[in-house]
Amino acid sequence: MSGDCENGRPKRVLVVGAGAAGMACADTLAQHPDRFHVTVVEAQSNCGGQMFSIPIDQKEFGASWLNQGVQGGSHIYHHTFYIFEKLNHHPRPVDLQVSFGKGNTFWTNVYPTQLVARHSKEIERFSWVIKVMRWLELIFAMIPIKVSLKMFFFSDEFINSMIYPSLALFLGTGNATPNLPTVMMERLYTSPTYGMWYPIDRKMLTSNLPPMVVFPEATAVYTDWQHSLEKKGVSIRLHTQVKEVISRSKKDGVRVSIIRKLESNSSFPSEEGAKQPYPLKEELLEETYDEIVFCVLADTAKKLLGNQARWIEKKVLGETKWSDDVTVTHNDLDYMKRWYELEYNKEVAVSDLGGRDESGRVEKAKQLFQPMYLIKQTPADQRKLEMSFDCSAFQYQLPKDVPLEKHIFQTIFLNKKHEETWSKHEIQPDKIVGGISFPTTCPNTASLR
Ligand SMILES: Cc1cc2nc3c(=O)[nH]c(=O)nc-3n(C[C@H](O)[C@H](O)[C@H](O)COP(=O)(O)OP(=O)(O)OC[C@H]3O[C@@H](n4cnc5c(N)ncnc54)[C@H](O)[C@@H]3O)c2cc1C
Repeated sequence: MSGDCENGRPKRVLVVGAGAAGMACADTLAQHPDRFHVTVVEAQSNCGGQMFSIPIDQKEFGASWLNQGVQGGSHIYHHTFYIFEKLNHHPRPVDLQVSFGKGNTFWTNVYPTQLVARHSKEIERFSWVIKVMRWLELIFAMIPIKVSLKMFFFSDEFINSMIYPSLALFLGTGNATPNLPTVMMERLYTSPTYGMWYPIDRKMLTSNLPPMVVFPEATAVYTDWQHSLEKKGVSIRLHTQVKEVISRSKKDGVRVSIIRKLESNSSFPSEEGAKQPYPLKEELLEETYDEIVFCVLADTAKKLLGNQARWIEKKVLGETKWSDDVTVTHNDLDYMKRWYELEYNKEVAVSDLGGRDESGRVEKAKQLFQPMYLIKQTPADQRKLEMSFDCSAFQYQLPKDVPLEKHIFQTIFLNKKHEETWSKHEIQPDKIVGGISFPTTCPNTASLR
Protein backbone atom coordinates (compact mmCIF):
# COMPACT_ATOMS: atom_id res chain seq x y z
CA MET A 1 0.00 0.00 0.00
CA SER A 2 1.55 3.30 -1.06
CA GLY A 3 2.42 5.94 1.53
CA ASP A 4 1.63 5.81 5.23
CA CYS A 5 -0.56 8.61 6.49
CA GLU A 6 -2.89 10.91 4.60
CA ASN A 7 -2.35 14.57 5.65
CA GLY A 8 -0.95 13.46 9.00
CA ARG A 9 -3.86 11.13 9.83
CA PRO A 10 -3.98 7.33 9.42
CA LYS A 11 -5.09 6.15 5.98
CA ARG A 12 -8.71 5.01 5.85
CA VAL A 13 -8.63 1.56 4.27
CA LEU A 14 -11.76 -0.31 3.16
CA VAL A 15 -11.36 -4.10 3.01
CA VAL A 16 -14.16 -5.72 1.01
CA GLY A 17 -14.97 -9.27 2.18
CA ALA A 18 -14.31 -10.97 5.55
CA GLY A 19 -13.15 -14.37 4.26
CA ALA A 20 -9.62 -15.65 4.91
CA ALA A 21 -8.06 -13.01 2.65
CA GLY A 22 -9.98 -10.02 4.06
CA MET A 23 -9.41 -11.00 7.68
CA ALA A 24 -5.69 -11.60 7.09
CA CYS A 25 -5.42 -8.25 5.34
CA ALA A 26 -7.19 -6.44 8.21
CA ASP A 27 -5.05 -8.30 10.75
CA THR A 28 -1.83 -7.14 9.11
CA LEU A 29 -2.94 -3.53 8.70
CA ALA A 30 -4.23 -3.44 12.30
CA GLN A 31 -0.67 -3.95 13.51
CA HIS A 32 -0.08 -0.31 12.52
CA PRO A 33 -2.94 1.73 14.04
CA ASP A 34 -0.86 4.90 13.64
CA ARG A 35 -0.78 4.36 9.86
CA PHE A 36 -4.11 2.70 8.99
CA HIS A 37 -7.70 2.93 10.10
CA VAL A 38 -9.31 -0.28 8.85
CA THR A 39 -12.96 -0.96 7.98
CA VAL A 40 -14.04 -4.43 6.82
CA VAL A 41 -17.41 -4.85 5.10
CA GLU A 42 -18.93 -8.28 4.69
CA ALA A 43 -22.13 -9.06 2.79
CA GLN A 44 -22.97 -12.09 4.94
CA SER A 45 -23.97 -12.19 8.60
CA ASN A 46 -20.65 -13.74 9.67
CA CYS A 47 -16.93 -13.64 8.93
CA GLY A 48 -15.17 -16.59 7.27
CA GLY A 49 -16.55 -16.55 3.73
CA GLN A 50 -16.22 -20.02 2.20
CA MET A 51 -14.82 -21.39 5.47
CA PHE A 52 -17.53 -22.15 8.01
CA SER A 53 -18.82 -24.93 10.22
CA ILE A 54 -22.29 -26.32 10.71
CA PRO A 55 -23.87 -27.76 13.87
CA ILE A 56 -24.48 -31.52 13.78
CA ASP A 57 -26.31 -33.94 16.06
CA GLN A 58 -23.89 -34.78 18.88
CA LYS A 59 -25.83 -37.94 19.85
CA GLU A 60 -25.81 -39.33 16.32
CA PHE A 61 -22.31 -38.38 15.18
CA GLY A 62 -20.34 -37.95 18.39
CA ALA A 63 -19.48 -34.27 17.86
CA SER A 64 -21.45 -31.03 17.76
CA TRP A 65 -19.83 -29.38 14.73
CA LEU A 66 -18.50 -30.14 11.28
CA ASN A 67 -16.27 -28.06 9.06
CA GLN A 68 -18.21 -27.65 5.85
CA GLY A 69 -16.13 -27.63 2.64
CA VAL A 70 -12.82 -26.29 3.93
CA GLN A 71 -11.28 -29.02 6.08
CA GLY A 72 -7.53 -28.85 6.14
CA GLY A 73 -4.30 -28.16 4.36
CA SER A 74 -0.64 -28.95 4.07
CA HIS A 75 2.23 -28.03 6.38
CA ILE A 76 3.23 -25.22 4.04
CA TYR A 77 0.26 -23.07 5.21
CA HIS A 78 2.49 -21.26 7.70
CA HIS A 79 0.43 -18.08 7.92
CA THR A 80 -2.84 -19.95 8.46
CA PHE A 81 -1.34 -21.95 11.32
CA TYR A 82 0.21 -18.83 12.81
CA ILE A 83 -3.28 -17.25 12.95
CA PHE A 84 -4.88 -20.39 14.45
CA GLU A 85 -2.24 -20.53 17.18
CA LYS A 86 -2.53 -16.82 17.90
CA LEU A 87 -6.27 -17.30 18.46
CA ASN A 88 -5.67 -20.38 20.60
CA HIS A 89 -7.29 -22.82 18.17
CA HIS A 90 -5.18 -25.84 17.42
CA PRO A 91 -5.08 -27.76 14.14
CA ARG A 92 -4.11 -31.46 14.30
CA PRO A 93 -1.77 -33.49 12.09
CA VAL A 94 -2.99 -36.48 10.10
CA ASP A 95 -1.36 -38.90 7.66
CA LEU A 96 -3.49 -38.85 4.56
CA GLN A 97 -4.98 -42.02 3.09
CA VAL A 98 -6.64 -41.80 -0.30
CA SER A 99 -8.88 -44.08 -2.33
CA PHE A 100 -9.21 -43.56 -6.08
CA GLY A 101 -11.57 -45.48 -8.37
CA LYS A 102 -13.51 -48.67 -7.73
CA GLY A 103 -13.04 -52.40 -8.37
CA ASN A 104 -10.47 -53.08 -11.08
CA THR A 105 -9.61 -49.37 -11.40
CA PHE A 106 -9.16 -48.89 -7.64
CA TRP A 107 -5.83 -47.85 -6.16
CA THR A 108 -4.58 -46.18 -2.99
CA ASN A 109 -1.39 -44.94 -1.39
CA VAL A 110 -1.85 -47.49 1.42
CA TYR A 111 -1.41 -50.85 -0.40
CA PRO A 112 -0.78 -51.92 -4.01
CA THR A 113 -3.65 -53.12 -6.17
CA GLN A 114 -4.06 -54.85 -9.51
CA LEU A 115 -4.37 -51.52 -11.31
CA VAL A 116 -0.94 -50.52 -10.01
CA ALA A 117 0.55 -53.87 -11.02
CA ARG A 118 -1.03 -53.53 -14.48
CA HIS A 119 0.70 -50.19 -15.00
CA SER A 120 4.04 -51.03 -13.36
CA LYS A 121 6.02 -50.34 -16.58
CA GLU A 122 4.32 -46.96 -17.05
CA ILE A 123 4.92 -46.04 -13.41
CA GLU A 124 8.63 -46.79 -13.85
CA ARG A 125 8.67 -44.67 -17.04
CA PHE A 126 6.69 -41.87 -15.36
CA SER A 127 9.32 -41.69 -12.59
CA TRP A 128 12.05 -40.76 -15.07
CA VAL A 129 9.77 -38.63 -17.29
CA ILE A 130 9.02 -36.49 -14.24
CA LYS A 131 12.78 -35.94 -13.80
CA VAL A 132 13.06 -34.79 -17.42
CA MET A 133 10.18 -32.40 -16.79
CA ARG A 134 12.04 -31.01 -13.79
CA TRP A 135 15.22 -30.41 -15.82
CA LEU A 136 13.23 -28.69 -18.58
CA GLU A 137 10.89 -26.90 -16.19
CA LEU A 138 10.75 -23.64 -18.12
CA ILE A 139 9.56 -25.41 -21.24
CA PHE A 140 7.07 -27.64 -19.42
CA ALA A 141 5.67 -24.62 -17.59
CA MET A 142 4.02 -23.76 -20.90
CA ILE A 143 2.73 -27.20 -21.85
CA PRO A 144 -0.62 -28.46 -20.48
CA ILE A 145 -0.53 -31.74 -18.58
CA LYS A 146 -2.81 -33.47 -21.09
CA VAL A 147 -0.34 -32.69 -23.90
CA SER A 148 2.85 -33.62 -22.08
CA LEU A 149 1.47 -36.98 -20.89
CA LYS A 150 0.51 -37.83 -24.45
CA MET A 151 3.95 -36.70 -25.70
CA PHE A 152 5.42 -39.54 -23.61
CA PHE A 153 2.80 -42.07 -24.82
CA PHE A 154 1.13 -42.81 -21.48
CA SER A 155 -2.04 -44.88 -21.76
CA ASP A 156 -5.51 -43.45 -21.20
CA GLU A 157 -6.17 -45.71 -18.23
CA PHE A 158 -2.92 -44.68 -16.53
CA ILE A 159 -3.63 -40.98 -17.14
CA ASN A 160 -7.33 -41.06 -16.24
CA SER A 161 -7.27 -43.48 -13.32
CA MET A 162 -3.92 -42.70 -11.71
CA ILE A 163 -2.52 -39.31 -12.67
CA TYR A 164 -5.55 -37.02 -12.89
CA PRO A 165 -7.16 -38.16 -9.60
CA SER A 166 -3.92 -37.74 -7.66
CA LEU A 167 -3.54 -34.17 -8.97
CA ALA A 168 -7.18 -33.02 -8.93
CA LEU A 169 -7.43 -33.63 -5.24
CA PHE A 170 -4.42 -31.67 -4.08
CA LEU A 171 -4.56 -28.86 -6.57
CA GLY A 172 -8.28 -28.39 -6.00
CA THR A 173 -8.64 -28.05 -9.74
CA GLY A 174 -11.23 -30.76 -10.32
CA ASN A 175 -12.00 -31.41 -13.96
CA ALA A 176 -9.78 -28.55 -15.15
CA THR A 177 -6.66 -30.55 -14.15
CA PRO A 178 -5.75 -31.72 -17.72
CA ASN A 179 -5.36 -28.08 -18.78
CA LEU A 180 -2.93 -27.08 -16.00
CA PRO A 181 0.71 -26.44 -16.80
CA THR A 182 2.83 -29.59 -16.53
CA VAL A 183 5.09 -27.93 -13.97
CA MET A 184 2.29 -28.18 -11.37
CA MET A 185 2.15 -31.94 -11.78
CA GLU A 186 5.93 -32.18 -11.73
CA ARG A 187 6.16 -30.26 -8.44
CA LEU A 188 3.74 -32.58 -6.67
CA TYR A 189 6.14 -35.47 -7.27
CA THR A 190 9.54 -33.79 -7.04
CA SER A 191 9.38 -30.99 -4.48
CA PRO A 192 10.34 -31.97 -0.89
CA THR A 193 8.30 -29.01 0.44
CA TYR A 194 5.31 -28.60 -1.91
CA GLY A 195 5.19 -32.15 -3.25
CA MET A 196 2.43 -34.15 -1.58
CA TRP A 197 3.53 -37.23 -3.50
CA TYR A 198 7.25 -36.76 -2.86
CA PRO A 199 9.22 -38.96 -3.12
CA ILE A 200 7.77 -40.80 -6.10
CA ASP A 201 7.61 -44.59 -5.68
CA ARG A 202 8.99 -46.20 -8.85
CA LYS A 203 6.88 -49.31 -8.36
CA MET A 204 3.67 -48.04 -6.76
CA LEU A 205 3.67 -44.36 -7.90
CA THR A 206 2.65 -43.14 -4.44
CA SER A 207 3.23 -45.10 -1.27
CA ASN A 208 3.81 -42.24 1.17
CA LEU A 209 1.02 -40.99 3.43
CA PRO A 210 1.28 -37.20 2.95
CA PRO A 211 1.33 -35.35 6.28
CA MET A 212 -1.69 -33.03 6.34
CA VAL A 213 -3.16 -30.70 8.93
CA VAL A 214 -6.83 -30.75 9.97
CA PHE A 215 -8.38 -27.37 10.69
CA PRO A 216 -10.10 -26.45 13.97
CA GLU A 217 -13.77 -25.38 14.15
CA ALA A 218 -14.05 -22.69 11.46
CA THR A 219 -16.89 -20.64 12.91
CA ALA A 220 -15.25 -20.50 16.35
CA VAL A 221 -11.95 -19.38 14.77
CA TYR A 222 -13.60 -16.60 12.75
CA THR A 223 -15.77 -15.39 15.66
CA ASP A 224 -12.67 -15.07 17.86
CA TRP A 225 -10.73 -13.46 15.03
CA GLN A 226 -13.48 -10.90 14.51
CA HIS A 227 -13.49 -10.00 18.22
CA SER A 228 -9.70 -9.75 18.41
CA LEU A 229 -9.61 -7.40 15.41
CA GLU A 230 -12.42 -5.27 16.83
CA LYS A 231 -10.39 -4.95 20.05
CA LYS A 232 -7.53 -3.60 17.94
CA GLY A 233 -9.81 -0.90 16.52
CA VAL A 234 -10.85 -2.56 13.24
CA SER A 235 -14.45 -1.77 12.33
CA ILE A 236 -16.14 -4.94 11.03
CA ARG A 237 -19.54 -4.33 9.46
CA LEU A 238 -21.52 -7.48 8.70
CA HIS A 239 -24.64 -7.57 6.46
CA THR A 240 -22.92 -4.79 4.51
CA GLN A 241 -22.16 -5.02 0.84
CA VAL A 242 -20.19 -2.80 -1.52
CA LYS A 243 -22.46 -2.10 -4.48
CA GLU A 244 -20.03 -0.25 -6.73
CA VAL A 245 -16.99 1.96 -6.88
CA ILE A 246 -18.33 5.37 -7.87
CA SER A 247 -15.02 7.12 -8.42
CA ARG A 248 -11.33 6.78 -7.56
CA SER A 249 -8.42 9.16 -7.80
CA LYS A 250 -5.10 9.72 -6.04
CA LYS A 251 -6.28 13.09 -4.76
CA ASP A 252 -9.83 12.31 -3.60
CA GLY A 253 -9.50 8.62 -2.75
CA VAL A 254 -12.13 5.96 -3.46
CA ARG A 255 -15.84 6.72 -3.28
CA VAL A 256 -18.08 3.67 -2.92
CA SER A 257 -21.78 2.99 -2.61
CA ILE A 258 -22.65 0.49 0.09
CA ILE A 259 -25.82 -1.42 0.90
CA ARG A 260 -26.34 -1.95 4.61
CA LYS A 261 -28.95 -4.44 5.72
CA LEU A 262 -30.63 -3.29 8.90
CA GLU A 263 -31.10 -5.81 11.69
CA SER A 264 -34.71 -6.56 12.50
CA ASN A 265 -35.71 -7.69 16.01
CA SER A 266 -39.31 -8.29 15.11
CA SER A 267 -40.75 -11.41 13.48
CA PHE A 268 -43.95 -12.60 11.88
CA PRO A 269 -45.69 -15.99 12.00
CA SER A 270 -45.05 -18.15 8.91
CA GLU A 271 -47.72 -20.35 7.28
CA GLU A 272 -46.52 -23.27 9.44
CA GLY A 273 -46.95 -21.10 12.53
CA ALA A 274 -43.21 -20.77 13.34
CA LYS A 275 -41.85 -17.26 13.81
CA GLN A 276 -39.77 -15.88 10.92
CA PRO A 277 -37.70 -12.70 11.08
CA TYR A 278 -38.95 -9.92 8.80
CA PRO A 279 -36.79 -9.56 5.68
CA LEU A 280 -33.96 -7.15 6.38
CA LYS A 281 -34.46 -3.56 5.27
CA GLU A 282 -31.75 -2.00 3.17
CA GLU A 283 -30.04 1.34 3.45
CA LEU A 284 -27.91 2.83 0.65
CA LEU A 285 -24.82 4.77 1.76
CA GLU A 286 -21.95 6.57 0.05
CA GLU A 287 -18.56 6.59 1.75
CA THR A 288 -15.03 7.70 0.93
CA TYR A 289 -11.78 5.93 1.76
CA ASP A 290 -8.12 6.51 0.91
CA GLU A 291 -7.57 2.93 -0.24
CA ILE A 292 -9.73 -0.08 -1.10
CA VAL A 293 -8.65 -3.74 -0.95
CA PHE A 294 -10.86 -6.30 -2.71
CA CYS A 295 -10.79 -9.66 -0.91
CA VAL A 296 -13.58 -11.17 -2.98
CA LEU A 297 -13.74 -13.47 -5.99
CA ALA A 298 -11.92 -11.98 -8.99
CA ASP A 299 -15.03 -11.51 -11.13
CA THR A 300 -16.85 -9.82 -8.21
CA ALA A 301 -13.96 -7.35 -7.89
CA LYS A 302 -14.14 -6.65 -11.63
CA LYS A 303 -17.90 -6.08 -11.42
CA LEU A 304 -17.60 -3.74 -8.42
CA LEU A 305 -14.89 -1.70 -10.11
CA GLY A 306 -17.08 -1.38 -13.20
CA ASN A 307 -15.94 1.45 -15.44
CA GLN A 308 -13.43 2.53 -12.79
CA ALA A 309 -11.30 -0.54 -13.55
CA ARG A 310 -7.98 0.08 -15.31
CA TRP A 311 -7.28 -2.07 -18.40
CA ILE A 312 -4.76 -4.24 -16.55
CA GLU A 313 -7.30 -4.85 -13.76
CA LYS A 314 -9.96 -5.78 -16.30
CA LYS A 315 -7.53 -8.17 -17.96
CA VAL A 316 -6.22 -9.87 -14.81
CA LEU A 317 -9.56 -10.05 -12.99
CA GLY A 318 -11.39 -11.20 -16.11
CA GLU A 319 -9.03 -14.11 -16.85
CA THR A 320 -10.19 -16.48 -14.12
CA LYS A 321 -12.26 -19.39 -15.37
CA TRP A 322 -14.96 -20.62 -13.01
CA SER A 323 -16.88 -23.79 -12.48
CA ASP A 324 -20.00 -24.20 -10.37
CA ASP A 325 -19.59 -27.15 -8.03
CA VAL A 326 -22.16 -28.50 -5.61
CA THR A 327 -21.17 -30.03 -2.27
CA VAL A 328 -23.52 -32.39 -0.46
CA THR A 329 -22.86 -33.38 3.16
CA HIS A 330 -24.49 -36.70 3.95
CA ASN A 331 -24.25 -40.05 5.66
CA ASP A 332 -25.54 -42.18 2.81
CA LEU A 333 -23.25 -45.20 3.18
CA ASP A 334 -25.01 -47.09 0.37
CA TYR A 335 -24.14 -44.28 -2.05
CA MET A 336 -20.54 -44.27 -0.90
CA LYS A 337 -20.18 -48.05 -1.15
CA ARG A 338 -21.74 -48.06 -4.62
CA TRP A 339 -19.10 -45.71 -6.02
CA TYR A 340 -16.04 -45.81 -3.76
CA GLU A 341 -13.73 -48.24 -1.97
CA LEU A 342 -14.09 -47.41 1.72
CA GLU A 343 -12.67 -50.66 3.10
CA TYR A 344 -9.75 -52.98 2.46
CA ASN A 345 -10.48 -54.96 -0.72
CA LYS A 346 -8.76 -58.36 -0.72
CA GLU A 347 -9.95 -59.12 -4.29
CA VAL A 348 -7.65 -56.51 -5.82
CA ALA A 349 -4.78 -56.40 -3.28
CA VAL A 350 -1.36 -57.38 -4.63
CA SER A 351 1.48 -58.74 -2.45
CA ASP A 352 4.28 -58.55 -5.00
CA LEU A 353 5.16 -55.62 -7.24
CA GLY A 354 7.79 -56.56 -9.83
CA GLY A 355 9.70 -58.67 -7.29
CA ARG A 356 9.21 -56.27 -4.35
CA ASP A 357 7.48 -57.94 -1.41
CA GLU A 358 4.40 -55.92 -0.48
CA SER A 359 2.86 -58.36 2.01
CA GLY A 360 3.77 -56.13 4.99
CA ARG A 361 1.92 -53.19 3.47
CA VAL A 362 -1.07 -55.39 2.63
CA GLU A 363 -1.21 -56.84 6.16
CA LYS A 364 -1.08 -53.35 7.65
CA ALA A 365 -3.85 -52.16 5.31
CA LYS A 366 -6.16 -54.93 6.54
CA GLN A 367 -6.10 -53.27 9.95
CA LEU A 368 -5.58 -49.61 9.19
CA PHE A 369 -7.06 -48.72 5.78
CA GLN A 370 -9.43 -45.82 6.39
CA PRO A 371 -9.41 -43.47 3.37
CA MET A 372 -10.14 -39.80 3.93
CA TYR A 373 -10.12 -38.42 0.39
CA LEU A 374 -11.84 -40.42 -2.32
CA ILE A 375 -12.29 -39.95 -6.05
CA LYS A 376 -14.76 -41.49 -8.45
CA GLN A 377 -14.45 -41.50 -12.24
CA THR A 378 -17.90 -40.94 -13.71
CA PRO A 379 -19.01 -43.86 -15.92
CA ALA A 380 -20.15 -41.51 -18.70
CA ASP A 381 -16.70 -39.93 -19.02
CA GLN A 382 -13.66 -41.32 -17.17
CA ARG A 383 -12.06 -37.86 -17.16
CA LYS A 384 -14.96 -36.30 -15.25
CA LEU A 385 -14.30 -36.80 -11.58
CA GLU A 386 -16.36 -36.63 -8.43
CA MET A 387 -14.62 -36.07 -5.09
CA SER A 388 -15.69 -37.24 -1.66
CA PHE A 389 -14.33 -36.84 1.84
CA ASP A 390 -14.88 -39.15 4.74
CA CYS A 391 -15.11 -36.32 7.27
CA SER A 392 -15.28 -38.81 10.15
CA ALA A 393 -11.91 -40.25 9.15
CA PHE A 394 -10.36 -36.80 8.58
CA GLN A 395 -11.83 -34.24 10.99
CA TYR A 396 -10.42 -34.79 14.48
CA GLN A 397 -13.52 -33.98 16.52
CA LEU A 398 -15.46 -36.88 14.97
CA PRO A 399 -14.94 -40.29 16.64
CA LYS A 400 -12.72 -42.69 14.66
CA ASP A 401 -13.84 -46.01 16.14
CA VAL A 402 -17.47 -45.93 15.03
CA PRO A 403 -19.00 -48.12 12.29
CA LEU A 404 -19.14 -46.68 8.76
CA GLU A 405 -22.91 -46.20 9.15
CA LYS A 406 -22.12 -43.39 11.59
CA HIS A 407 -19.63 -41.61 9.31
CA ILE A 408 -20.31 -38.24 7.69
CA PHE A 409 -19.28 -37.83 4.07
CA GLN A 410 -19.01 -34.86 1.79
CA THR A 411 -19.40 -35.32 -1.94
CA ILE A 412 -18.47 -32.60 -4.41
CA PHE A 413 -20.10 -32.69 -7.83
CA LEU A 414 -17.81 -30.80 -10.16
CA ASN A 415 -18.76 -28.26 -12.79
CA LYS A 416 -22.49 -27.78 -13.34
CA LYS A 417 -21.86 -27.70 -17.09
CA HIS A 418 -21.37 -31.48 -16.87
CA GLU A 419 -24.39 -32.05 -14.66
CA GLU A 420 -25.48 -34.95 -16.88
CA THR A 421 -22.54 -36.95 -15.48
CA TRP A 422 -23.55 -36.31 -11.83
CA SER A 423 -25.19 -38.94 -9.61
CA LYS A 424 -26.34 -36.42 -6.99
CA HIS A 425 -29.93 -37.64 -7.26
CA GLU A 426 -28.82 -41.03 -5.90
CA ILE A 427 -28.08 -39.58 -2.45
CA GLN A 428 -31.08 -40.22 -0.22
CA PRO A 429 -32.59 -36.85 0.80
CA ASP A 430 -33.11 -38.05 4.38
CA LYS A 431 -29.37 -38.81 4.60
CA ILE A 432 -28.32 -35.24 3.85
CA VAL A 433 -26.78 -33.80 7.00
CA GLY A 434 -28.07 -30.39 8.05
CA GLY A 435 -30.67 -30.65 5.28
CA ILE A 436 -28.49 -28.68 2.89
CA SER A 437 -26.75 -29.06 -0.38
CA PHE A 438 -24.79 -25.93 -1.09
CA PRO A 439 -23.30 -24.59 -4.28
CA THR A 440 -19.68 -23.50 -4.34
CA THR A 441 -18.08 -21.54 -7.07
CA CYS A 442 -14.50 -22.62 -7.55
CA PRO A 443 -11.84 -20.99 -9.62
CA ASN A 444 -10.37 -23.59 -11.93
CA THR A 445 -6.97 -22.56 -10.72
CA ALA A 446 -7.64 -22.82 -6.97
CA SER A 447 -4.91 -23.91 -4.59
CA LEU A 448 -4.64 -27.01 -2.41
CA ARG A 449 -7.82 -28.26 -0.81
C1 LIG B 1 -15.90 -26.93 -1.36
C2 LIG B 1 -14.60 -26.25 -1.03
C3 LIG B 1 -13.68 -26.90 -0.23
C4 LIG B 1 -12.49 -26.27 0.08
N1 LIG B 1 -11.61 -26.93 0.90
C5 LIG B 1 -10.47 -26.33 1.27
C6 LIG B 1 -9.59 -26.97 2.19
O1 LIG B 1 -9.84 -28.08 2.68
N2 LIG B 1 -8.43 -26.33 2.50
C7 LIG B 1 -8.14 -25.09 1.99
O2 LIG B 1 -7.09 -24.57 2.34
N3 LIG B 1 -8.96 -24.45 1.13
C8 LIG B 1 -10.11 -25.04 0.76
N4 LIG B 1 -10.96 -24.41 -0.10
C9 LIG B 1 -10.55 -23.11 -0.64
C10 LIG B 1 -10.86 -22.01 0.39
O3 LIG B 1 -12.20 -22.11 0.80
C11 LIG B 1 -10.65 -20.64 -0.22
O4 LIG B 1 -9.37 -20.58 -0.80
C12 LIG B 1 -10.73 -19.51 0.81
O5 LIG B 1 -11.80 -19.71 1.70
C13 LIG B 1 -10.92 -18.22 0.03
O6 LIG B 1 -10.95 -17.16 0.94
P1 LIG B 1 -11.18 -15.69 0.39
O7 LIG B 1 -11.13 -14.77 1.54
O8 LIG B 1 -10.27 -15.44 -0.73
O9 LIG B 1 -12.64 -15.72 -0.28
P2 LIG B 1 -14.07 -16.01 0.35
O10 LIG B 1 -13.97 -17.00 1.46
O11 LIG B 1 -14.95 -16.32 -0.80
O12 LIG B 1 -14.47 -14.61 1.00
C14 LIG B 1 -14.98 -13.55 0.24
C15 LIG B 1 -15.98 -12.84 1.11
O13 LIG B 1 -16.36 -11.64 0.44
C16 LIG B 1 -17.73 -11.43 0.67
N5 LIG B 1 -18.23 -10.55 -0.40
C17 LIG B 1 -18.39 -10.83 -1.71
N6 LIG B 1 -18.83 -9.74 -2.37
C18 LIG B 1 -18.93 -8.75 -1.47
C19 LIG B 1 -19.34 -7.38 -1.56
N7 LIG B 1 -19.72 -6.83 -2.70
N8 LIG B 1 -19.35 -6.64 -0.42
C20 LIG B 1 -18.98 -7.20 0.77
N9 LIG B 1 -18.59 -8.49 0.90
C21 LIG B 1 -18.56 -9.25 -0.21
C22 LIG B 1 -18.34 -12.83 0.62
O14 LIG B 1 -19.58 -12.87 1.30
C23 LIG B 1 -17.26 -13.63 1.35
O15 LIG B 1 -17.49 -13.74 2.73
C24 LIG B 1 -12.17 -25.00 -0.43
C25 LIG B 1 -13.11 -24.34 -1.23
C26 LIG B 1 -14.31 -24.94 -1.53
C27 LIG B 1 -15.30 -24.21 -2.36
